[in-house]
Amino acid sequence: MSKSLQAIRGMNDILPEQTPAWRYLERTFATLLDGYGYHEIRLPIMEFTELFARGIGEGTDVVDKEMYTFLDRNEESLTLRPEGTAGCVRAVLEHGMTGGGQVQKLWYAGPMFRYEKPQKGRYRQFHQIGVEVFNLPGPDIDAELIVLTARLWQRLGLTDAVTLQLNSLGSSADRGRYREALVAYLQERFEQLDEDSQRRLTTNPLRILDSKNAQTQALLQDAPTLADYLDDESRAHFDGLKARLDAAGIRYQINPKLVRGLDYYGRTVFEWVTDKLGAQGTVCAGGRYDGLITQFGGKPTPGVGFAMGVERLVLLLETLACLPGDLQRPADLYLCAFGEAAELAGLKLAEQLRDARPDLRLLVNAGAGSFKSQFKKADKSGALWAMILGEDELAAQQVALKPLRGDAPQEKVDFAALAARLDEILPPAGFGRGN
Ligand code: ATP
Ligand code: MG
Repeated sequence: MSKSLQAIRGMNDILPEQTPAWRYLERTFATLLDGYGYHEIRLPIMEFTELFARGIGEGTDVVDKEMYTFLDRNEESLTLRPEGTAGCVRAVLEHGMTGGGQVQKLWYAGPMFRYEKPQKGRYRQFHQIGVEVFNLPGPDIDAELIVLTARLWQRLGLTDAVTLQLNSLGSSADRGRYREALVAYLQERFEQLDEDSQRRLTTNPLRILDSKNAQTQALLQDAPTLADYLDDESRAHFDGLKARLDAAGIRYQINPKLVRGLDYYGRTVFEWVTDKLGAQGTVCAGGRYDGLITQFGGKPTPGVGFAMGVERLVLLLETLACLPGDLQRPADLYLCAFGEAAELAGLKLAEQLRDARPDLRLLVNAGAGSFKSQFKKADKSGALWAMILGEDELAAQQVALKPLRGDAPQEKVDFAALAARLDEILPPAGFGRGN
């Protein structure tokens, strides 16, 4: 196939056999978030480049290496969003939603774009479901975000597959003092650092902490740790969070090297990690970003949030066989009609049945065909019943109902009695019929 007819590398089609799993995940999440009083916000997938440069920060991998940035026809620099927080902050400021200390508890879902090296669990167009909360400064809301993600894992059957890693990055003053100590320590060992970390020593030294290089990691063993630089307030915040997680029975590992890739985090940071997906093991990541909104020129406004990777979660659900078996509900009926008069009557009947049973899954044969060919299509469709309408049935104002699965007897039903009969033979809405 010519290159122009192929999808862009790292940008995937989500095919019909995969979408039920996606919808299941999205639906489970939306229902859960409703239960905690969060509201959905839908945001553009492009913003002015400046927004991300300022919000995420120069010197981060995302801004320096991963953004899809281009000039539009008006010579404005636009960027496909690499994450959701910056756009969400822009929206709440633009609409005055955080003025006067108004609390906002928001969630969003959608595609994000990063120019990365595509591999399992890492793509150039990927999807996140994210949550952002504004104007709540305390550790109680940090705990709520973690508690609700834990409940999501429980609903999805993933509790045993994920672990929670937790850290506090302190205030920006704490990080400033720590950065100095870390840089001084690493500067003395500069020659032993890997090349990436050498570069980061001037651009973004904290990021060296999560270097994948073994020798660099060994060097970091004896480096100063951020925990020793937290001021009283940050320490109290972190203690408050841990106390709440303990009370909720949520286990966590303190990971002093967890720093997160984006510049705007302070105090709480966390990641939910699995060992079932290989290298791309983080399925959900987030933290507190109290300084971000002032960076955009807004009044000081606390913020905290997280985002999870939908592809990685779907992969995890598949890998662990955690997807419910009845995600792809089969059609209830397949209508076979023979001859023009029966086709016209069939169309009318089909629409009447849809009026009576809005949840009905009814496939109407298209393209006419012999009895044999229509029947074959009915069978192949996976429908539970064939509904047959020929000249004889039409004359009697009846249809024949023939089971395609199981061995119930074939029966003739009057048009007028059909909706009531379907109520008897088809399972009611709710039990696996909601998808
Ligand atoms: P990673 O360390 O895996 O690159 P990140 O720190 O860059 O992740 P975040 O910006 O925090 O990721 O995004 C939150 C979540 O979105 C990640 O934990 C992951 O599940 C998912 N994610 C991030 N980048 C990608 C990608 N390129 N492809 C698929 N999922 C991704
Ligand atoms: Mg990344």
